[in-house]
Amino acid sequence: MNILQKIETAKLVGRGGAGFPTALKWQFVKKAQGDTKYVICNASEGELGLFKDIHILENYPEKVFQGLQVAMDFLGTKNCYFNFNRNYYKKIKKKIDSLVNQYKKKGYSFAIFQEEPSYIGGEETALLNAIEGLRVQPRLKPPYPSDSGLFGCPTLIHNVETLFNVADVYEGIFEDKRFYCISGEVKNKNVFHYPANWSIQEVLEKSGNIPPFNFFVQIGGSASGLVLNQDQLSKHTMIGAGSVEVYKADMNPRDLLLRWFKFYNNESCGKCTPCRFGSYNLYQLVKNKKAIPWKEIFEIIETMEKTSFCALGKSVALPVKSYAKNVLKIKKS
Ligand code: SF4
Repeated sequence: MNILQKIETAKLVGRGGAGFPTALKWQFVKKAQGDTKYVICNASEGELGLFKDIHILENYPEKVFQGLQVAMDFLGTKNCYFNFNRNYYKKIKKKIDSLVNQYKKKGYSFAIFQEEPSYIGGEETALLNAIEGLRVQPRLKPPYPSDSGLFGCPTLIHNVETLFNVADVYEGIFEDKRFYCISGEVKNKNVFHYPANWSIQEVLEKSGNIPPFNFFVQIGGSASGLVLNQDQLSKHTMIGAGSVEVYKADMNPRDLLLRWFKFYNNESCGKCTPCRFGSYNLYQLVKNKKAIPWKEIFEIIETMEKTSFCALGKSVALPVKSYAKNVLKIKKS
């Protein structure tokens, strides 16, 4: 079985959040026309509540490099960019530089690129812009990076955890597990490697993180993720990029909304009007009004969901709507 067949058999999907089938992505880049092709490792990780990429890079950097080598060999290229959240690179520079040198001796070219930590910097086309020295904003798709990516060349972009999994598939030791970042009001804030099909209830139990008080959780990113109450935990498995944040049931809703909206206001790249104004207005509304203005909030998030240019602006609707429905039990007014 060749590596593509192995990846297909393993049903590997991307772990950056979108869950796109890895084998399909590889086929697109392989088939794309172009003498030069690139592979990029995306270690940007700018969402709240996520810290699994740095955990993997600190503990298993060799596997990530192996995953990159397997991808480059498949595509017949030696060109790789390693896109780092600047703070991550500072932490593990010595180990990474040593691996880059080892691979250079084997003929592979690894360019290190350091980005200011940001959510939009992890969006794959914004990341391409950043490396090319352009404004860090998403590009219109199509064309997709698999056809026209870095410097207009076919480009394969993978998250750190996906490359870790590629190495396991290559070695024949792959198990369908994923990394879970658990944070918030818990005893044991850490990263855990558990089966991908475990319910959130199982993940919290096995990690020793069921709190002794009433609580709710947010999964798949602590800004853009889905909010669930305690009764829903056994019915849901992980979504998105792999985080569980635990909140006390009696936390002040205003504090949570302000945390989310401040994040969106700071992270909006400003390219499109719905997100630029929407994220600003959400933050100001909650900050400046005594009662939470739910009606206006729903109007803004629905406009953002329908009309924003990229996933960042669209994604604010999910946490707010699920929090209102599952925890506060309020209906859209
Ligand atoms: Fe930028 Fe628009 Fe995406 Fe917001 S939705 S991050 S303003 S492109």
